[in-house]
Amino acid sequence: MTDQPTVETREFQAEVSRLLEIVAHSLYSERQVFLRELISNASDACDKLRFLAQQQADLTAGDSDFRIGLSFDKDARTLTVSDNGVGMDRDELVANLGTIARSGTAAFVKAMEEGQRKDNPLIGQFGVGFYSAFMVADRVVVDTRKAGTDAAWRWESDGKGSYAVSAGTREKRGTAITMHLKDDASEFLDDAKLGEIVRRYSDHIAIPIVLGDKTLNRASAPWTRPKAEVSEEQHEEFYRHVAHAFDKPWSTLHWRAEGKIEYAALLYVPGMRPMDLFAPERRHGVKLYVRRVFVNEAPEGLVPRYLRFLRGVVDSEDLPLNVSREMLQNNPVLTKIRQSVTGRVLGELEKRAKDDAAGYGEFWGNFGEVLKEGIFEDAEHGKRVLSLARFKSSAKGEEWVSLADYVARMKEGQDAIYYIAGDDAKAVASSPHIEGFRKRGIEVLLLSDPVDEFWIAQTDEFEGRKFRSVTRGAADLAKFAEGEKKDEAKTDAPDIAPLLALFRLALGESVKDVRASERLAESAVCLVADDNDIDIHLERMLRQHKQLKSMSRRILEVNPSHALVKALAETVRARGENQAVQARVSEIAKLLLDQARIVEGEKLDDPADFAKRMADALAAGFAPS
Ligand code: ADP
Ligand code: MG
Repeated sequence: MTDQPTVETREFQAEVSRLLEIVAHSLYSERQVFLRELISNASDACDKLRFLAQQQADLTAGDSDFRIGLSFDKDARTLTVSDNGVGMDRDELVANLGTIARSGTAAFVKAMEEGQRKDNPLIGQFGVGFYSAFMVADRVVVDTRKAGTDAAWRWESDGKGSYAVSAGTREKRGTAITMHLKDDASEFLDDAKLGEIVRRYSDHIAIPIVLGDKTLNRASAPWTRPKAEVSEEQHEEFYRHVAHAFDKPWSTLHWRAEGKIEYAALLYVPGMRPMDLFAPERRHGVKLYVRRVFVNEAPEGLVPRYLRFLRGVVDSEDLPLNVSREMLQNNPVLTKIRQSVTGRVLGELEKRAKDDAAGYGEFWGNFGEVLKEGIFEDAEHGKRVLSLARFKSSAKGEEWVSLADYVARMKEGQDAIYYIAGDDAKAVASSPHIEGFRKRGIEVLLLSDPVDEFWIAQTDEFEGRKFRSVTRGAADLAKFAEGEKKDEAKTDAPDIAPLLALFRLALGESVKDVRASERLAESAVCLVADDNDIDIHLERMLRQHKQLKSMSRRILEVNPSHALVKALAETVRARGENQAVQARVSEIAKLLLDQARIVEGEKLDDPADFAKRMADALAAGFAPS
């Protein structure tokens, strides 16, 4: 019994309507990709059912050979793509064919809106999924029946703003999509044409695609074929199908492992960064097959989390076909496959890093943030991942720098790898803490990814050199020469000890200490953490994540060669006993501390107080003497 109305008309989601408008006016030559999209969906639907049937065998009872059928009717001018896959119930019909769910399609709509709307060749590249049927049809009818249910449904639309859902008559499980072809789309009512399109775009589909009594595709999964027999074009098509992506793979890894464990793998590193790479529920994109049969979409443990950008297929010879989700957990075969896959992928990345630094930089820009998780998550391969890591550095501008590069450039007498961490790449690059290092030609790694704090906290060294934050402890820069120009200011700087004493008095408990700085060159002051305290940026992150409540006190470092500091020291030396001078210096000390906090990205305790002090200081500067 159902209380649904017989025919219900619904509006498309606004994005779908916009998409359909674009699709309807798409380039003639791009139109044929609609078939690829519908076949890809049919193949997914069969995979889904095959997966469900592992737990519930009766879902495919009596009809366990999956197939995708093409048929056309010249007189009625219709073309139908059908499958005996999982099918859809009413709610799924509405959810899947009335909205834009997949990120690729959403990205396409965005790209279209940014660029020109009409005749955009992007459409073939992106593929807009199911809606691409409207490139060739002015009416599309979907008849479907979900496996294991006895209700059939019909979805129907002319692609102009709304669609209708009603009870259907389909007698078997699965879905049939019938396109009423536009007047100018007669070319698709032709065996040869359909065969050509299928072989071009859908040859990799592992399920037979049948037209009349002919199977059009090779129906052999590409990972089972010899490496040399799969062309770059075929890889591209297969990648787009398994990854639901619209870019080209940056790297293709295709191999067969023989020996203790046997498996075939066909893996791709995407050319673009997906939008949800950091979503907590984000999983990897490697499907598990067992002896050519799909068993799991992305089983946990097949590839490590830090390789979750991978897309493709692993096909095991050793696992049982009816392997359940529970059985996959901590499965020794899966563990061995993971170790082997990880080694292979890292090996490929190492090779690319060596042979093609620029190309590798592109990869790193997309996925480096994820790969870096491997430094601390993978005890076995962490060191390799660290060597694969690339960084921005104070010495190299936009170029990516490896730790090996850094070590090769280290100054004589330098024993640590210096870094600065922060949440903003620009702020980090212009931080006062690195001024003195720059001046002495000492390179500082600029870390601004959230993950950096985690690996650096758990990594002692790279090839015997310790990592050292430039915002913590003493800078110890005195032993390094300051480049060509000798710093005059420093040698004849007045003794600033009395000034520092006054600063200490004025700032009291708000700082741990006030001291002269070696790390500053242009700025007057900066805040640093004490040797035994936690790094400033790490502490801020922990506080943001509520893992730390109080803040440790900082050391205020003062630049003895800064004009303001020199003038103040001089005044204190000459008239330090004077109450008015002391009061003035005290105000300036507070002003400088707040300024250092701002540079650090900290919040001020009392911004109004700061503003008033600032205005007073400016007024004093401008007042006629
Ligand atoms: P995508 O395939 O990337 O998810 P599509 O626009 O191609 O996006 O399809 C939207 C959704 O419609 C699919 O995710 C699927 O849930 C459903 N769908 C489309 N075609 C079929 C089909 N033949 N059988 C079952 N479900 C389908
Ligand atoms: Mg699709």
